[in-house]
Amino acid sequence: MSDFAAHAERIRAVPDWPEPGVTFRDITPLLADAAGLAATIDALTEVASGWGPIDTVVGIEARGFVLAPPVALRLGAGFVPVRKAGKLPAPTESRTYDLEYGSATVEVHRDAIAPGDRVLIMDDVLATGGTIAAARDLVTSLGGVVVGELVLLELPALGGRERLASDTPLAALVTYG
Ligand code: AMP
Repeated sequence: MSDFAAHAERIRAVPDWPEPGVTFRDITPLLADAAGLAATIDALTEVASGWGPIDTVVGIEARGFVLAPPVALRLGAGFVPVRKAGKLPAPTESRTYDLEYGSATVEVHRDAIAPGDRVLIMDDVLATGGTIAAARDLVTSLGGVVVGELVLLELPALGGRERLASDTPLAALVTYG
């Protein structure tokens, strides 16, 4: 974790994107740097390792797809995508929710999670918490047990942690604002 802190400054704040008033936190410069990428995956894996055995790491489209598979590999877990509506080919479970900007629907394959599977949910940013709440709902509706929720960065001013409040551990490597 301490090594990650030395690289976190590569996360770029882009004002007024994708619309006025939103400061977008762009993790691509962090991931483009070899040491930054390694430190990020190391730190995420270290946090998740404290949450007991994990069968499946759920990554949320799109940037959760970048972070979840390497963490899953390290944990000896599988990877399951939660995708935006209409992208998954087999029967899905779906949820619609509000975003910081707009609304969205996310889906998961119904056969991707079995009852009792221990699931870690990952995304890049925790803002209002709507996305992770929807992913949690999808996992639990299939009988999965969410053992943790893990993001690279958290924007506490948007209240995601309060919205997601539960007994499930929620962690971020870095917070802004
Ligand atoms: P939320 O559902 O409000 O917690 O939003 C989280 C989702 O929206 C994540 O998938 C993020 O990638 C994206 N997101 C929301 N706000 C931002 C932001 N300010 N910077 C970067 N990504 C964001």
